[in-house]
Amino acid sequence: MYWNAAPEMISALVIIVILINSRDAHAMPTTRDRMFTFTLYYSLFCFLLNFASIQTVYHYLIVPRWVNMVVNTAYFALYPPVTLVFIFYILLYAFEQAPPEHRVRLKTTSAIILGSTFVYEVIVVLNFTYGWLFYLDETNKYFRGPINRISLILAIFHIIVGLITVFRERQYLDRFFFKVVLWFPMISLGIVIVQILYLEIVLTGTALAIAILSVYLNFQTRRISIDNLTQYPNRESFVSNLENLAHHNKKAMVMVVSLDNFKSVNDTFGQKRGDMFIKLVADKLQELCPKGQVYRYGGDELGLIADSVNGQSVVERIANQFTYQWKVEGVTTRLSASIATLELPFRADPSADPITLLDHTVRTAKNRGKGQTINCDTMILRTIRRKSQLSDRLLQAIATDSLSLDYQPIFSLDSGNMEMAEALLRMEDEQMGTIHPAEFIPLAEELGIIGELGRWVLEKVCILLDEIRSKGREMPVISVNFSSLQFADGNIVRDILGIVSHYRIPAGTINLEITESTFIGSSFHEALSVMESLIVHGINFHLDDFGTGYSNLSYMVNLPFTCIKLDKSLLWDVQEHNRMHHFIESLIKVVRQMDFRVIVEGVENEQQVAYLRKIGCDMVQGYYFSPPLGRSDFIKILESKSFHPLSPIHRM
Ligand code: C2E
Ligand code: CA
Ligand code: CA
Repeated sequence: MYWNAAPEMISALVIIVILINSRDAHAMPTTRDRMFTFTLYYSLFCFLLNFASIQTVYHYLIVPRWVNMVVNTAYFALYPPVTLVFIFYILLYAFEQAPPEHRVRLKTTSAIILGSTFVYEVIVVLNFTYGWLFYLDETNKYFRGPINRISLILAIFHIIVGLITVFRERQYLDRFFFKVVLWFPMISLGIVIVQILYLEIVLTGTALAIAILSVYLNFQTRRISIDNLTQYPNRESFVSNLENLAHHNKKAMVMVVSLDNFKSVNDTFGQKRGDMFIKLVADKLQELCPKGQVYRYGGDELGLIADSVNGQSVVERIANQFTYQWKVEGVTTRLSASIATLELPFRADPSADPITLLDHTVRTAKNRGKGQTINCDTMILRTIRRKSQLSDRLLQAIATDSLSLDYQPIFSLDSGNMEMAEALLRMEDEQMGTIHPAEFIPLAEELGIIGELGRWVLEKVCILLDEIRSKGREMPVISVNFSSLQFADGNIVRDILGIVSHYRIPAGTINLEITESTFIGSSFHEALSVMESLIVHGINFHLDDFGTGYSNLSYMVNLPFTCIKLDKSLLWDVQEHNRMHHFIESLIKVVRQMDFRVIVEGVENEQQVAYLRKIGCDMVQGYYFSPPLGRSDFIKILESKSFHPLSPIHRM
């Protein structure tokens, strides 16, 4: 009998190449990944077996009869299950994506496939007696038995059953994978048909190799998973591995290490060295936790999935590492990191999304200052829940127009007249009660609805001004808070001018207040161009919260502000720190010399008023003179002549 085993050899080579290449791709292997690797090894073993079987059949005259029998029986017993392993691999993938309640389908299919394989294996055993698959004559020569092709039929049967099962879950599968899964049986069927027609060419392994190759290519396309800079798996791998761990309730200690102020490291040492520092930190994390896996989670953020057993000591070691210096290319620096840790399964809510938990924990750590390590606990979960409830309520409030505005007067300290008022947004929720703007404004920024909110505020202010004018009274000047994120909105100038001109608001009536600290993040030229386009239409800009965070004097000097608002914390510090006295005094002097007007906010008592008078402060805003007033109260004080800061009637 002549057998051509060349295709089989080439297929074995293909499998070896895939095996070598896929070895490092799975940093944190899942059951399915392990199964894939197992399939590769198992198929290699089968190729060897096939080769051995061909050799024993050829050299029957010198091979002992029992060897010939054992090798060929092993071939029949072990080769067909390789298709089975591969089909299970595909089924596992499909059912990772399908809804959990469909798992019963996986069980049924498994039962059919395993049951039929069992029957087949019984036939293999019975072959010793009956020679159904093959038999050896008295000279030890090999002959095909009457149902020799049953292994092929079994493979076809398994492929069809697997295919039907996968097909039923098609709506949950990504398109690319589905295509691969569809092509695999077609190619295999083609090969099996060729095999039946040309029995002397051994092609079973080729079918297998093609199938494995297609799945491997699928892997590669979907997973360009290694981060170029650090050579560790990227964010997508981290996310999918975490989801997988959470889905299967696996135990692990997960960490996100976020470098603090990394921008300044880049600014000081240059981008290239900055990158080297990130790589160095990544390597260090891997060294400190050799059994875990490091990931590049974000620009200056690294992820780590570690064993839960000594997770806590790993966290401590990592946090401790940041007390030392870091050195690359001869430069040395200290780095600080905010660390978020999460123990899986997350007991407080096993169904919570681990990425949301980690992101939130990192942000909490960052907000608490540099170098903090925070474990995600019930309290963090509670704030996440509150935030999600609040975003629902906020969107609802915008949709139903149920937000409101307060107006807080700003007085001239010299004349005692109200010079202008600041519009402040208020949110009163039936379920959640009063919500502070410091909570919902950042949320609106995060949700990307701050622009809409800003337009809403401006429109309400214009409606009020229009109403005051229609009563024949003089319109007050109103300051509206403006989020720096709104600069990035390409339609911002058109929108603001649209509203202002619709209500025919005269030039000089609307100021926009921009907070200094958030402002710094946005592009200078973008900001300048928006400001200039609005200024020509009579809208003035005030720099809010001056003196908090990182003061960037060049922004203050180079952008066309007309007024600087000193943050309340500066004034409040005066009482505690004597040197602050001189600082504020000089600051006000300098700012006024530069032709800015100055507003000091947060004036709460008489001593502060006396002090501000002494240093020649221009305008004041604070509870001492008036708290923010509801719309009708504000209209009332506009109409009342008795409202005067020297005789504060609206003191809290
Ligand atoms: P802000 O612009 O610095 O507004 C001044 C804040 O100080 C207001 O808090 C006001 O009620 C409070 N305040 C005024 N006088 C005193 C005082 O004497 N003592 C004390 N302790 N506080 C005083 P509010 O209304 O809670 O607003 C907080 C922040 O929310 C505002 O800070 C502003 O950044 C933001 N915000 C409010 N409304 C809007 C809005 O319509 N749009 C945007 N983008 N942000 C807004
Ligand atoms: Ca303000
Ligand atoms: Ca302020």
